[in-house]
Amino acid sequence: MHTTETYGFQTEVKQLLQLMIHALYSNKEIFVRELVSNASDALDKLRFLSVQDDSLVAEDSNLRIEIDFDKEAGTLTIRDNGVGMSKEEVVQNLGTIASSGTKRFMEAMESAQKKDANLIGQFGVGFYSAFMVASEVTVRTRRAGLAADEGIVWHSTGEGDYTITPETIERRGTEIILTLKEDSKEFAEGWKLRSILKKYSEHIAFPIMLPKPVAPKDSEDESIVATEPEWEQVNDATALWQKPKSEVTQEEYEAFYQSVSSDWNKPLTHLHNKVEGNLEYTTLLYIPEQAPFDLWDRDRRYGVKLFVKRVFIMDDAEQLLPSWLRFVRGVVDSADLPLNVSREILQSNAIVDKIRSATIKRIIDHLNSMAKDDADKYAKFWSTFGQVLKEGVIDDYSNREKIAGLLRFASTTSDEQKVSLADYIARMPEDQKDIYYITAETLTSAKGSPHLEAFRKKGWEVLLLTDRIDEWVVQHLTEFDGKSLKAVNRTDLSDVIGDEKPEVSEAQEDVLKRLKEALAEQVSDVKASARLVDSPACLVLGSHDMAPHMAKIMAQLGQAVPENKPVLEVNLDHAIVNRVSSAEGDTFNDWALFLLDQARVADGSLPKDPAGFVARVNRLLV
Ligand code: ADP
Repeated sequence: MHTTETYGFQTEVKQLLQLMIHALYSNKEIFVRELVSNASDALDKLRFLSVQDDSLVAEDSNLRIEIDFDKEAGTLTIRDNGVGMSKEEVVQNLGTIASSGTKRFMEAMESAQKKDANLIGQFGVGFYSAFMVASEVTVRTRRAGLAADEGIVWHSTGEGDYTITPETIERRGTEIILTLKEDSKEFAEGWKLRSILKKYSEHIAFPIMLPKPVAPKDSEDESIVATEPEWEQVNDATALWQKPKSEVTQEEYEAFYQSVSSDWNKPLTHLHNKVEGNLEYTTLLYIPEQAPFDLWDRDRRYGVKLFVKRVFIMDDAEQLLPSWLRFVRGVVDSADLPLNVSREILQSNAIVDKIRSATIKRIIDHLNSMAKDDADKYAKFWSTFGQVLKEGVIDDYSNREKIAGLLRFASTTSDEQKVSLADYIARMPEDQKDIYYITAETLTSAKGSPHLEAFRKKGWEVLLLTDRIDEWVVQHLTEFDGKSLKAVNRTDLSDVIGDEKPEVSEAQEDVLKRLKEALAEQVSDVKASARLVDSPACLVLGSHDMAPHMAKIMAQLGQAVPENKPVLEVNLDHAIVNRVSSAEGDTFNDWALFLLDQARVADGSLPKDPAGFVARVNRLLV
């Protein structure tokens, strides 16, 4: 006897279903894309398993997706003869959601102005989209390799729970039957389904079959009995990446992007390469226009699918591209890897290594050409993915110089991040040997730094680095095109200001000495500055001291920050420094600390004792 068991949905699934049922109104048709894509995944999985065990497909080797509908009954059926699911898999897959997908999806939905169902695919919750259009969903499935009487029927109205009933199912694979809601009956019409499938599923690599439209029969003729429909294939069902470039249109590239990435935007660009020779492989890779939602997640997914001789092997094959290219989407199809390749094998495989390094080079070249040919497009790319690319400078030693060539910075000549190191070098006056930069928390604070005064006077450009990651970038990128990268707030600036020491009178020597005594605990020295023009003082770091901006980041991250003893440089021509020299006793100490603290503030740091700073300033003002 077959007993029906009732299960409750996981809380997150319940919330998700509520959203599907009650809040999503636009783009409902995408449930077709989601269910077809699941069917296609199931076929991919079966084809993969059958490489080891061909008995799995023996009974029916014509892998396909069938879409059947009954207008009268208002039902729609999406059927595949793929891998199917066992009872445990049904409970696992259609009752819970493992990843952070739901939460992220709900957040995205809450913040979205228009609650657009189109976002669903990216979050791995596609199955549940069926409930946008269906009042009831029945899933009949049988895992490949299991006996007919091990079939499972899952049923739910989407309200809180679902049932599972064992049943004898003759066919391998999964059949999803939707009982359409009153307002969604149109999805049981052939023309409607055909147009949706053309739009979203043209590049599914398995045939998608619809019943052939039947010519209108003489309505008087009662003798006609329902028969198996004649099926008609609606999609192209070839692996797009295997076609020669010249035969693929822009629209086809875009449609394929949408199907591999589940991103409904257009891609920014694509690269399609067929490599023949020692190794034989094809890559069709895309750079999205918008950042994937998990770009900064720790458990982010990589977007490249691996195929071997057109057989799908795995999703997010992280061995194929480095983390700093994790935003790239698409497929790599190798003719040389074994079909039974596993993630472990990929980790240390010479073929994969070669594909990987050649692909990295190709992407870098492609980005370089984009930068050259279409500056606006590159600017768009840079603003979306530039920060990720910077990780490459830190992580990827062998490509460091090449990646550095792709970086764009703001500088004293450009508020926008659009200055390349090559541009910078091209603009360097003859007597300038190095590349100069300043790191700061914001553009305003970088631009206002006293350290730039000497450079302004000389007319030398300085790169303004304000992204958090920049502190790490400059630690790894110490050279570009044979030129050193130098921070403007380090000790040696003789190239900029010349070797000449500022002239210091005896009285001034005395002030410097007194300042040094007053500040002995906090600075290693007090010197007359040659780099300041308008500001009274600045702090100069030794070559191994941690930059103030970096110290701040480390402190925010809860890390121990080593105590630097920088050099305080004072501008002897400045009126304030004159005032200081005539002060005595406590007032002199107030002035000394004031000079030090304002130099800290100019670096974007806080005075060591903010309240003390305020009290001192007030005393001096009164
Ligand atoms: P995703 O497909 O992104 O993982 P879904 O919510 O769409 O998320 O599906 C959940 C899971 O249910 C899938 O990962 C798969 O394991 C299983 N599943 C869905 N549809 C099918 C199908 N037609 N055949 C076999 N398994 C399926």
